[in-house]
Parts: sequence; structure tokens; C-alpha cells
Amino acid sequence: MRAKRSISSLAERFWLHVQKPGNPDECWLWQCRSDPNTDTGRYGSISDEDRRGLKPHRVSWLLHFGPIPTGEYVRRSCRNSRCVNPKHLYLVQDGLARRFWEKVDRNGPTQAHVPHLGNCWTWTGYLMPEGYGQVALPHNQGAALSHQIAWQLTHGAIPEGLWVLHKCDNRVCVRPDHLFLGTHQDNMADMDAKGRRPRGESAPWSKLTEDQVRTIRTLSATGVNVDDIAE
Ligand SMILES: [Zn+2]
Ligand SMILES: [Zn+2]
Repeated sequence: MRAKRSISSLAERFWLHVQKPGNPDECWLWQCRSDPNTDTGRYGSISDEDRRGLKPHRVSWLLHFGPIPTGEYVRRSCRNSRCVNPKHLYLVQDGLARRFWEKVDRNGPTQAHVPHLGNCWTWTGYLMPEGYGQVALPHNQGAALSHQIAWQLTHGAIPEGLWVLHKCDNRVCVRPDHLFLGTHQDNMADMDAKGRRPRGESAPWSKLTEDQVRTIRTLSATGVNVDDIAE
């Protein structure tokens, strides 16, 4: 019931920002909130009830065709970076997504304190000393944390100021529904509650995490869609 309601409210908000031409075969343009005079070409995102920022073309896909399978991307045949016309959208599984999910063991352990979550998906690639998985990004863009990439591949960009956290407390887990977005404070409170907050303000991994988040943001700020990062 709730899911149904949230989809319809997402649809309502989504269509407010879409400009449809007379000919339905032409591109349908996503309109940013900014006005045309100050429009810097930012594509923007639309957030759902869980504060996730969704890419408009992915929302268009979701509304027309249903959920996007894990690891697949929505691309545009017209190559118009603002287009959300479902006729111009298609799914691909490629690049980063394929390399990423190939290194994931979907039969990881179930965590004893949260058995209801089901089993974890274990990142089998490179691990950092802090226990998080690390993924090399294409285009000499450095590296990112595997659970952040899992989030991005599933939901799109990580909204400004939010972190990707684990419900299962298993750092190597990249199962999308074991991940959630929270603030830095949520993260600290969560760790306090679980008694695993490192001493000192500048725990090395927390700084690194922040750097990696910035790397990913830089990618999306320069107008590179997750789709394109995948190449
Ligand atoms: Zn188009
Ligand atoms: Zn997990």
C-alpha cells in the first residue's frame, strides 16, 4: 500500500518537471528547478520518500516499465542528456556494473544480530585495511568504496551530505537492501550504539570514506552520469 502511494506521489512530482513536445516521438525534456537564464546545464535529481536522489531518466523507466534490475543501467538512444522519453530509453548491463557485480558473492553469511535481513553479498575484490571493499574507477578517477558503488549502481547519485551505511554492520557487504543513507551524525550515533566508534576525531577510515564520497560527487558534479561512469 505504502509502496503504491509513494510511486504515485513520485510520478506526480516527476511529471511536473517534464516538458513533452507535440510529437510524442521527440525527446521529452527534464526541466531542472533552475530558471532558464541561470540554468548551468545541471541535470538534477528527484528524491523519493527515503531521501534518495533518483536520476530522472531512471524514474521515467521505473514509472513506465517497472524496477531496474540490479546492475543494469538506463541509457538514452537519442543521446540527449535531458531526455526522459521512455521510447528513447533502454537497459544495458556493462562496464563498471558488470565488473562490479562479477566480484560479488551473493551467498555471503547471514549476520546473527540481524537474521531478518537475509544473507550478505560479499565483495570479493580488493579490501582496504579498514575492512571496506575498494573499487577502481575508470577514467583515472581514483577509487571508491564498494558499498558506495553498490548504492550508486542501484539508486543513482548519493545525495549531498549523506553517507551510505550498513544495516548489517558488515563492511564488505554490498547487498543493496542492506545499505541505507544517513547523515554523518547517524553514522557516529550508530557506531556509538554498537560500541565500535574509533577513538579520536580523525579515524583514518572515516576520513578516507569522506574523500571517496567526494570522488563520486565530483564525477556526478561534472555531469558524468552513472551510466557514463560505467564505460
Ligand atoms: Zn530523447
Ligand atoms: Zn549485509
